Amino acid sequence: MLLRFAAVLEKLKSWIRAKAARVRLDVWHSPDYRLPLPGLEARIELRRADFALWALLERRVLSPVRMHAPQRISYPSMARVHDRGYLESLTLPATLGRIFAVDPSELVVDELMGAVRLACGGTLAAAREALRFQRATMNLLGGFHHAGRASGGGLCPVNDLAIAIAELRTEGFEGRVAILDLDAHPPDGTADCLARDPRVWIGSLSGAHWGALPDGVDETVITGADDQGYLAALESLLARMPPPALAFVIAGGDVLAGDRMGRLGMSLQGVFRRDRMVAAALQGRASVWLPGGGYQPEAWKVLVGSACALVGPTPPSWPRGHDPMRARFSAIAAGLDPSALRGELTLTLEDLENDLGGGPSAPRLLGYYGPTGVEHALHEYGILDQLHRIGYAELRVVLDQTPGGDRLRVLGRASGVADGRLGGREDLLLECVLARRQVAGASILFVEWLTLRNPRARFGPSNPRLPGQEVPGLGLAREVSQLLEQVALRLGLAGVGFRPAWLHTAWAGRHRLRFVDPARQGRFRALLRDLAALPLGQAARAVSDGRVLLDGAAYQWEADDMVAWIDGREPDAAERALEEDVFVNAHFEVVP
Ligand SMILES: [Zn+2]
Repeated sequence: MLLRFAAVLEKLKSWIRAKAARVRLDVWHSPDYRLPLPGLEARIELRRADFALWALLERRVLSPVRMHAPQRISYPSMARVHDRGYLESLTLPATLGRIFAVDPSELVVDELMGAVRLACGGTLAAAREALRFQRATMNLLGGFHHAGRASGGGLCPVNDLAIAIAELRTEGFEGRVAILDLDAHPPDGTADCLARDPRVWIGSLSGAHWGALPDGVDETVITGADDQGYLAALESLLARMPPPALAFVIAGGDVLAGDRMGRLGMSLQGVFRRDRMVAAALQGRASVWLPGGGYQPEAWKVLVGSACALVGPTPPSWPRGHDPMRARFSAIAAGLDPSALRGELTLTLEDLENDLGGGPSAPRLLGYYGPTGVEHALHEYGILDQLHRIGYAELRVVLDQTPGGDRLRVLGRASGVADGRLGGREDLLLECVLARRQVAGASILFVEWLTLRNPRARFGPSNPRLPGQEVPGLGLAREVSQLLEQVALRLGLAGVGFRPAWLHTAWAGRHRLRFVDPARQGRFRALLRDLAALPLGQAARAVSDGRVLLDGAAYQWEADDMVAWIDGREPDAAERALEEDVFVNAHFEVVP
């Protein structure tokens, strides 16, 4: 009996060991992988690495002990690949502004290059680890394949793959390297850096032809391919790949259908099959997986899929309405101490006297949050850190009352603005006025006013002025709206609402908020459907200029209440039917 028990125990132990070995995936990530470029917010999901990391931890695909923080790559390492004059030009906002397609005014060179150099350090560390244990590793930012020896472009200032290979060579690694570039764009920069190296094979599938690549690049251009066409081309490419001692896989997210830059039309399931095929071809070999591009809102799910493909045959599932940021913010909220938010620990003697004597007490936001508590929360949710990274110092939180409600402001000074435009003055960065209000029979948190301002940035062709904007935005609307939901939850309110004055502000809230009036919601969806071909800024201007017709008559924007309900309520059948009826029958058009 005892013997049998021991045998069963031994079996169980080996099963657990096998299971643990399977989920052994090492991942490099830094909170600073989020590029400090608010001007890109409307075009690219800058939180991709964070979203992927949170999802992988939540699903236990990744264990916290297998998360690694990268080190910045050194200048000598970058100089092994890149031309000295070119590296020097990367200290100029104008060069980086061109590479990242943003106005140079918003660039904080050290922060941006710091993020890029961290990613390069991550790729190198992941490659060393992969070689050490002959298995796959992953870096959640990297695959900067458009950076050549003396040129950069397409969000790639320096080439992390070429730098990692050059560094490994100096450490004595002599084996053959395969680069499988499965980003939707050609590896022009990587080819410039590495095509002459006989020990490097570059294989690529692209959705567009950008002109001839040097000999030695195995490039297949496929246009408009769906899953089947793509996977067939991948099968042939993998058959031609010489067995490498080390592989770099750019598991690009821009192959997804609907990507604004890629021209391929793959599904999430198709991309998962892509990654499984590559993982099988590289089984038992050292490989480093990198995200490359991905400009569709769902591109971060590709990255999660790649990690899942490396640990097993099960693709990640996505529950309807899953929002990675809401999950993250809920977890942070659960860890915040209510007494710290209320500022009870920091009451001064004066406050105490005022409280006891009925004098004016320190202002509280919504009768709950003290000034220190608000600052603490803004820090914990990462908002103060982001303000720092996009170039503001001496941040200050101010609470007071206005006739519309309780006001919260965050003020700060732009650091390192070379032209002295802001004169070192303190500027308003974030302002909101909040009140409790009855809407549709429930008490909600009503946002009377909200503005997110980036005064150091200028409008330009890449970020045109939207109606009602004085200065460009901070790129933090998603964080702030999640934060407000957490405030409403904490205060026991049924939802968060506001009254959008413009099309683009309603658009920004469209995932979570709905117009309270179902017919209005139907018209809003019809408007988005009929103006979908226009960039958002142009659509918003057409509406505010009165150049939009509804069923042939001039249409004026209707500033009605929108609410994100957090009490679980859903529209009933009659409301849904009304919304659908209006949605189907309303027709908008833009007149020149
Ligand atoms: Zn790409």
